[in-house]
Amino acid sequence: MAEIQNCKLYIAGTHQDAADGETFDNLNPATGEVIARVHQAGKADVDRAVEASHKGFAVWSAMTCAERGRILRRAADLLRARNDELARLETLDTGRPIQETSVEDINSGADCLEYFGAIAAGLAGEHIDLGQSFAYTRREPLGICAGIGAWNYPTQIACWKAAPALACGNSMIFKPAELTPLTAVKVAEILSEAGLPDGVFNVVHGFAETGQLLTRHPEIAKVSLTGEVGTGRKIMADAAGTVKQVTLELGGKSPILIFDDADIDRAVTGAMLGNFYSGGEICSNGTRVFVHESVKDAFLERLVARTEALKIGDPLDPDTQVGALISLEHTEKVMQAIADGQKEGARLVTGGQRLTEPPFDRGGFVTPAIFDACNDDMNLVREEIFGPVLSLLSFKDDEEAITRANATPYGLAAGVFTRDLTRAHRTVARLQAGICWINNYNLTPIEMPFGGYKQSGLGRENGKAAIEYYSQLKSVYVELGELESPY
Ligand code: NAD
Repeated sequence: MAEIQNCKLYIAGTHQDAADGETFDNLNPATGEVIARVHQAGKADVDRAVEASHKGFAVWSAMTCAERGRILRRAADLLRARNDELARLETLDTGRPIQETSVEDINSGADCLEYFGAIAAGLAGEHIDLGQSFAYTRREPLGICAGIGAWNYPTQIACWKAAPALACGNSMIFKPAELTPLTAVKVAEILSEAGLPDGVFNVVHGFAETGQLLTRHPEIAKVSLTGEVGTGRKIMADAAGTVKQVTLELGGKSPILIFDDADIDRAVTGAMLGNFYSGGEICSNGTRVFVHESVKDAFLERLVARTEALKIGDPLDPDTQVGALISLEHTEKVMQAIADGQKEGARLVTGGQRLTEPPFDRGGFVTPAIFDACNDDMNLVREEIFGPVLSLLSFKDDEEAITRANATPYGLAAGVFTRDLTRAHRTVARLQAGICWINNYNLTPIEMPFGGYKQSGLGRENGKAAIEYYSQLKSVYVELGELESPY
């Protein structure tokens, strides 16, 4: 039996109990064991966090950009130094394999703090010459920002929101997903240790109701969500009440296009990365795999062989490649989608089975599923499943592939595999997706903006682009000439 942690709110630089003493249990998805008792924030707690954020903002926004950058870079170093401990916690909380969390999550969070720490010092407005007068712009913070996270990459999401927000001089109240509350508090502790003034980064825990207290709060200037499209709609509507700015990183049903001249082994790797990494619980996954009809059989044969060799097991075992899905409830939904896909007439070529023998019976361990004989109208092919489920489709020519790839209300990501780079660039120019990969899939370097087209989101995280979404411009006109009165 694992030791049960007490996971409190983090407000004004200290761990605090919820005002009404309310808590909820946090489970290890692989074993079903309670690993933490989590303090649930109500209105009094959110108000306390807002008050702390005001105080933090006053200190933080008055510091120079260079000073702010130094603290963020120090936090990046501290995060990296604690990689192993945090990766273990992330695996316990998410069920994702330690071989992923130990190289991906903490590193990506640290990269983000480092990147925005480095560019913070360069944030500036511009000078505009107007002849007898001039204008200049000041790039100013928005104020208090709310960050609301999904459960799949908790440390990364906390850092992807905190780093640009803080670099621009804002303060933040972050609410991790209720299923994965453990590491956001660690990020908060590390930021404090790096020298972040109290109240600049606060963590409140809870469910949708706690999120709503943030999105409807009149003193919060902006909300950034990572979550489902339906949640995005609700949050946009709630934010409208006080005209908050919103950044939405939502779901998708992204396409991967594999042309007849593609390196097939590379395309198989891309399709596996885009469907089975993190048990398929990745928003940008390329779950609609369009393969040219002339190479489809060869592609499928290699894909199946390599997928069947994946090692499913205890997420803490360094050899495990497929761990547990986030919860039994989510596992039910994934299994239902697999069953429905078969009823719709798609052919389950391999996987799609839930392991029910001990020690797997207490978690959602599902073997990676590959469906063939799919068509574009099936729910299997249209709806986000957020599990290890790949749908294979075939096409005859480029035009057809592009049209079908775009026939979705989503537009988060897309992948193209071909040896002909002219064809690759011509294709991505026509794909309706915010992130496109050529001959690779699901890589998210912090230098590259990340975000969706269409219903997959609004705004961008990462890259210089993120600065636009966490700051506002003030224009100042300065008269040097005479002021002629028309009156
Ligand atoms: P979710 O939408 O259920 O929850 C996300 C967060 O929103 C949670 O913290 C939740 O408590 C909060 N929330 C829910 N309803 C709310 C409301 N009405 N008001 C305020 N807050 C509310 O998503 P999830 O199940 O945690 O995550 C999976 C989803 O996230 C998938 O759809 C996936 O595609 C998406 N996702 C997107 C990205 C991206 O960057 N585009 C990254 C990861 C996950």
